[in-house]
Amino acid sequence: MLNKTQLEQFKVLLHKKLDELLTEANRTVSGMTSDKENLPDPTDRASLESNRNFTLRIRDRERKLINKIKEAVERIDLGTFGICEECGESISEARLQARPVTTLCIDCKQKQENDVKVKGS
Ligand SMILES: [Zn+2]
Repeated sequence: MLNKTQLEQFKVLLHKKLDELLTEANRTVSGMTSDKENLPDPTDRASLESNRNFTLRIRDRERKLINKIKEAVERIDLGTFGICEECGESISEARLQARPVTTLCIDCKQKQENDVKVKGS
């Protein structure tokens, strides 16, 4: 189990990641609004459209990650951070360091990935 100091450190780490993502997201949004809306050349317009789709996909990924980080911070407050939601065992600190938003221990994660592979085939 993680002690209070470790939990505080993870909280700081998560908030830092959140700040980075929000800064990045804001930059993406302001980049989008500064695009020229009325391009005379249809080719330019098409490439602008595909760029915008790309930006939206990135933002969707960022949004999901932002939510995951927020949930991880909530789990720290609730006292369930670092506990596998599948089997209830503690998640190793090394795994949390590498991926603080995880909700599964390495065993359950691997099991889940195997299940996905089986279902996907
Ligand atoms: Zn587990």
